[in-house]
Amino acid sequence: MAQQLSPALADRWVRGFAAAVEEANDRLTDMDRRSGDGDFGVNMTTGLRRALAALPDRPDTPGTPFQVLSDTFLSHSGGTSGPLFGMWFRDFAKVGSQMDFLTLGAVAEASQKGWDTVTRLGSAKVGDRTMVDAIAPATEALKHAEQEAEPLEAGLRAAAEAAERGAEGTSQILGRKGRTSYVGEAALGVPDPGAVTIGLFYRAALDAVADTSS
Ligand code: ADP
Ligand code: MG
Repeated sequence: MAQQLSPALADRWVRGFAAAVEEANDRLTDMDRRSGDGDFGVNMTTGLRRALAALPDRPDTPGTPFQVLSDTFLSHSGGTSGPLFGMWFRDFAKVGSQMDFLTLGAVAEASQKGWDTVTRLGSAKVGDRTMVDAIAPATEALKHAEQEAEPLEAGLRAAAEAAERGAEGTSQILGRKGRTSYVGEAALGVPDPGAVTIGLFYRAALDAVADTSS
């Protein structure tokens, strides 16, 4: 079983993430319609399709696929989430471009950097009903798994589950950032689409690694 993410596995992670978002497109759009304006699914899938077309066949480093995602989201995608995801992917690109393989520690480092960046740009805290509600628990889970010297797959599973739980929890929260803060109680019962997308991101990482274990 892979203990590190090679450039090929990072590529599989990014492609798997794009496929998962594509599949969830209607659900994400509906979540954003209930808690904002309904452009989230289109914003994400447009950026991801463009990025997929630009992915190289053989990435040089595990940072390369994330660099392509970041560049595409920063230059083309719309909404509030476009630039935020662009900067989130950028931290994975930065960490990954410095190494031949991504370890669990490197994923934890990228996630922490991404959390810091998203917070610096959007100033959302845990409990504001944003993607940060999934990023924060996923990052804590990764750091904990690294400290406990857990295998890569276990660490990514913990991150995916923490992100998904965090995303689910946003359905009980009144929004304090972005458009969802204007709709108040109308958004209750529906999770934040940005947080759900972070769950898809870490679930895709787990699937990329778990696929190699059979
Ligand atoms: P818009 O609200 O401009 O239509 P999108 O629909 O593209 O933007 O993205 C909405 C998502 O952006 C939300 O689901 C939330 O996760 C995320 N978001 C909004 N504001 C912030 C913020 N200040 N910090 C972090 N994430 C945010
Ligand atoms: Mg929107």
